[in-house]
Amino acid sequence: MKKQIAILGSTGSIGTQALQVIEEHPDLYEAYVLTANNRVDSLIAQARKFMPEAVVIANESKYPELKEALADLPIKVYAGEDALCQIVQENPVDMVLAAMVGYAGLRPTMNAIRARKPIALANKETLVVAGELINELARVNGTPILPVDSEHSAIFQCLAGEGNNGIEKILLTASGGPFRTFTHEQLATVTKEQALHHPKWEMGAKITIDSASMMNKGFEVMEARWLFGVRPEQIEVVVHPQAVIHSMVQFEDGAIKAQLGMPDMRLPIQYAFSFPERVRSSFPRLDFDTCSALTFERPDTTRFRNLALAYEALHRGGNMPCIVNAANEVCVYAFLTDRVSFLGMSDVIEKTMMRVPFLAKPTYEDYVQTDAEARRVAEEILTKNN
Ligand code: NDP
Ligand code: MG
Repeated sequence: MKKQIAILGSTGSIGTQALQVIEEHPDLYEAYVLTANNRVDSLIAQARKFMPEAVVIANESKYPELKEALADLPIKVYAGEDALCQIVQENPVDMVLAAMVGYAGLRPTMNAIRARKPIALANKETLVVAGELINELARVNGTPILPVDSEHSAIFQCLAGEGNNGIEKILLTASGGPFRTFTHEQLATVTKEQALHHPKWEMGAKITIDSASMMNKGFEVMEARWLFGVRPEQIEVVVHPQAVIHSMVQFEDGAIKAQLGMPDMRLPIQYAFSFPERVRSSFPRLDFDTCSALTFERPDTTRFRNLALAYEALHRGGNMPCIVNAANEVCVYAFLTDRVSFLGMSDVIEKTMMRVPFLAKPTYEDYVQTDAEARRVAEEILTKNN
């Protein structure tokens, strides 16, 4: 029996690489449902090639175009967020790859967890916003969450076979992004074109900007905290520009295990699909002749304030990470449309953190309200600044 995979966000960077993994193993995996938000042409092309049971377009205004383009095929066509939430619960679905970007991934992922579908999680914002709630939901329903993010996949691979052996520390590696060596003065004038050019990874626009500002690493610290049940003090960020070591775990006896490989997301995607097995792949191998030096540095939270703000949010807990996530989403899209400077993003996020009411024990409804309020406040601050 082939594993039936629902890909939420199939037209994105992770989504298209997941389809390459499925193409590599037609005997093992099948795309059961493909979904997108706006890029209807890509979704049509993917549907024609992979012949899923169904497709969903989140943006309902694109439905007629999609429906007509697939009229000659036996593929069900749906639109809207509710359809997205329902489709993941369908019986034949064996696994849900959450590869949508941002807060929008939260509700469909929660629905899939409730339906006890193992989750391959790329959408880190889900754990950033509501990590405690997601963990509880997964525990109650007995739903496994398998990391796709390369660092977390590395940690997960280091933990394989370790049973209850205690983790002393997680060493979360970071490439440092395109501005690793930039001074504060240089950072003040960087453009979106520069920020969109990541030295090691080809990714969607939002995570590429998050990587440049190091908010991505802050989010990954939160993600690690919830995925591996460690305290924030047990997670250390290590800047490693070559991006060969994808992360490490230090155990209680002092031994450190690391996972190494090419910076290729198809590896962690495939591992989440095949776990606990490993399956052969034709993806490029790491060549030690061409990577003679592995270097390590401390992250600089003075130049990269977003990382400090993420740590603060993690320590404060409650709805604070949700506030940071919402403000950050607003800022990233503002930066991409030249409405805020690179360093200005941290100012807006910090002010939003101070203005949105803090809740120590938020419910799902509280998160929804917090997200909306933080977006409103961040927008207001942006507008006043301009
Ligand atoms: P992309 O922007 O490339 O793709 C996002 C996908 O989600 C697209 O299919 C997009 O549809 C869809 N989408 C966006 N907004 C909505 C919405 N409101 N409702 C429904 N669908 C939506 O992002 P990435 O693939 O780069 O990243 C996806 C997630 O994976 C993010 O959370 C990111 O942090 C995480 N991640 C990504 C990595 C990478 O290498 N790319 C590495 C590690 C984690 P459309 O194409 O129509 O816009
Ligand atoms: Mg990562």
